[in-house]
Amino acid sequence: MAIYITNTETGKKEELKTITPGVVKMYVCGPTVYNYIHIGNARPAVVFDAFRRFLEYRGYKVVMVQNFTDIDDKIINEANEWGVDFKDVADTFIVEYWKDAQSLGIRAANFHPRTTDYVSEIVEAVDKLISKGYAYVADNGDVYFSVRSFEKYGTLSGRKIEDLVAGARVEVNDLKKDPLDFALWKAVKPGEPNWNSPWSIGRPGWHIECSVMSQKLLGDTFDIHAGGEDLIFPHHEDEKAQSEALTGKPFARYWMHNGMIVTRGDKMSKSIGNVFLVREAVKRYGKDAVKLFLLSKHYRTPIEFSDEILMENKKASLRIIKTLNRFEEKHPYPLVPKRDEYMKEVESKFIESLEDDFNTPKAIALIFDLSKELNKAMDDGNDKEALKRYHLITRVFGSVLGLFEGGAKIVDSNEEKVLDEILKVRQEFRKEKNYQAADKIRDALKNAGIKILDTPDGTKWEKFTEVNE
Ligand SMILES: [Zn+2]
Repeated sequence: MAIYITNTETGKKEELKTITPGVVKMYVCGPTVYNYIHIGNARPAVVFDAFRRFLEYRGYKVVMVQNFTDIDDKIINEANEWGVDFKDVADTFIVEYWKDAQSLGIRAANFHPRTTDYVSEIVEAVDKLISKGYAYVADNGDVYFSVRSFEKYGTLSGRKIEDLVAGARVEVNDLKKDPLDFALWKAVKPGEPNWNSPWSIGRPGWHIECSVMSQKLLGDTFDIHAGGEDLIFPHHEDEKAQSEALTGKPFARYWMHNGMIVTRGDKMSKSIGNVFLVREAVKRYGKDAVKLFLLSKHYRTPIEFSDEILMENKKASLRIIKTLNRFEEKHPYPLVPKRDEYMKEVESKFIESLEDDFNTPKAIALIFDLSKELNKAMDDGNDKEALKRYHLITRVFGSVLGLFEGGAKIVDSNEEKVLDEILKVRQEFRKEKNYQAADKIRDALKNAGIKILDTPDGTKWEKFTEVNE
């Protein structure tokens, strides 16, 4: 059967036909490394890692590239604040990225290029765009891409040049010939990181890096370009325009975009300040709960983030893990079932759902059904073949999506129950206005690393780590 994915450029589900049969070449825009990643950053990483695993499960060889943007205003600002070199900020947060990625079981891509390793290739590309008449040098040594020189501009995001002009917030920038033009190269202020170029001492603009790194590593035209939907315009529109202007060939054949994580209607972003860090989420809810949360809605839809929703995912993930543990503690070595009609049927259902625009909610529902069957078979205990088969397919399907990959261990301590009971006792004291006793409980828990929060919705607790400077 064929794999269908929604191509942002056409807005339609299209059959995936790769340039080289059996090989998928894929580029995913990666993080700007100036801070720890939050759940919103983790979504494309988790979703496209799972999609890659599925492609491999279907027999494709996948060549995947995910970049690190290691030069950017935010990195420079951070470096200035810390009084260090921008490279040290980037290096620090690349290391931190890998810690978080590992804690979520996200596999490394085949290539993780860094912008600053590609500056000479970027200069070459910009030079070529100037000589082809798609870009121009401004008085100060900036180089801009001339949007109107590229006829197909706007086809990815479905925007027309006239509408862009009407909606454009005209920047105070006399250097541009047209407010729509965007920077390929920026002449820099003294003290900023810089590289030599024929036009000025400066640094690359943001969009050009992904064009250059993807085409150097995957070829002029490759199969899938992916990222968050907030990147469609202008980032991906600009990437497409420069790349196609440069080579005269189509850039990516399919564009896949994941929806945003929202909290109370706002996109999760560092600039709004409503972020929840991956490392905090993994600590509080567990790796599988976070991944289940990110994969149990279709990748194109927005997902609402809240403590309640994550807690539900935690409970759900623990149900499966407990079931697997129950089986694996009794059977620590693999048991291979005979492949029967049932297995073939359930496998084709699983594949069908994922072939249909990577419908992970449907595939995950199937894993939950299987886990229920496994529990039933264990209660019953007679049918050894059924036990083996439910166990194996639950595990295999989980691993296709990168879920429940841990070994058998007790993951659900009694901690929550114990804490709830302690808080009930404290509540009693508060009702009796015995605040001294209530505070004693609060302080004792604090010593144990548990913070108590009295909110209008009741008393909550959270674990905290004290950071000593
Ligand atoms: Zn990019």
